[in-house]
Amino acid sequence: MDIPSYVTELMDVLEENGYECFIVGGALRSALLSLPVKDYDLTTNALPEEIKHCFTDYKTIDTGIQHGTVTVLSHHHPIEITTYRVDAPYEDHRHPSGVIFTRALKEDCARRDFTINAVCADRNGRIMDFFGGREDMKNRKIRAIGYPEKRFDEDALRILRALRFASVLTFTIETETDLALRRKKDTLAYVSAERISAELKGLLEGRNRAAVLVSYREVFEVFLPQLKDVDEVHMEKMISALSLAPQDASVNMALFLSESGMSDPEQILKDLKYSNADIRMIMNLIELRDMPCKTKIDMRRLRNRLQCPFDMYLAYRCACHSNTDKEKVSSLYEETANDCTSLKDLAIRGNDVTALGIKGPQIGQCLEAALDAVMEDRVINEHDALLAWLKDQSIF
Ligand code: ATP
Ligand code: MG
Repeated sequence: MDIPSYVTELMDVLEENGYECFIVGGALRSALLSLPVKDYDLTTNALPEEIKHCFTDYKTIDTGIQHGTVTVLSHHHPIEITTYRVDAPYEDHRHPSGVIFTRALKEDCARRDFTINAVCADRNGRIMDFFGGREDMKNRKIRAIGYPEKRFDEDALRILRALRFASVLTFTIETETDLALRRKKDTLAYVSAERISAELKGLLEGRNRAAVLVSYREVFEVFLPQLKDVDEVHMEKMISALSLAPQDASVNMALFLSESGMSDPEQILKDLKYSNADIRMIMNLIELRDMPCKTKIDMRRLRNRLQCPFDMYLAYRCACHSNTDKEKVSSLYEETANDCTSLKDLAIRGNDVTALGIKGPQIGQCLEAALDAVMEDRVINEHDALLAWLKDQSIF
């Protein structure tokens, strides 16, 4: 594997000081699966204070130091270096009561969630794999380390991590791990909505999202009880839409909500603690699901109401309505790029309307009516033409 020099440099510093250091977790998993590596996490037998002592020439950040993590800035890359540790007993199905540092790499690997996340490599790419992670990668399996039921009971978030990895990596979950996560599904009640939705977003971006949603429906029902009321017809509609959509979490969330017919999607998103910006975008997609898209006038209306990138809307729409002529809708939309589709494009302003003697809320109504007329080609978007048109309206 090709380890970037800003990573090997830090590994060398630790080794020169007599410590061990390995790359572990997502970076190694991705590298071994020939996927792009996001960030490199290092693990070492040096204690946090010893790590800091090795890196006095570097900027270090102590954010996770009580859990053994020191972040070292290497050529502008923040690299997390964590002391080998085992977790003290878990308290609330989510957090260990503390961490205990250890000098044994194997013990550190044993506290990790899945075998595929516990493979390590040293500075020269030599692999340490105590739990058969590489074999599981080869067989595309997600397998808990140790007793699956105990591991899910300790930390319920692992249940959703397993489903996210299944979706993103298109792996299957090994039988014992699968049975255990189903048995322990109710412990998800201990996981915060923020953590659930972060995993859910990742899962909805994964290629296997549809299959995972179907296979593990009972697990999703724990934190999305509305899913219990979805009948088979809607379930199939949702699955086929999800299969057609690109790997975009918001598009897929919108499809998940609209095609399943679950009531009050906005409340569901609020309960999952989605951000206001995400909620606005997802709800906007859902509201515009059935907008006519046949004429230039339709496209202007769409531009007027769209609050997310058009490509996103198009992807959503094509997944809902599989007979949509994507090219045609796209080119029609382009043709309206310079058209007047919002009040700010309109050639008259509020003061022009006031000058006609109109007051109060009627000013806004007049401008909206003028915008409608322009979008529908009933009047041209020019100052005098618009004023003349307004004067002709029955309101005078
Ligand atoms: P990604 O960053 O793509 O989500 P990752 O495997 O790097 O995947 P992180 O959440 O960054 O996941 O965690 C890094 C490593 O820490 C994991 O690979 C795993 O070994 C361990 N880990 C993370 N969360 C847990 C957990 N809840 N229980 C046990 N080990 C965990
Ligand atoms: Mg990671």
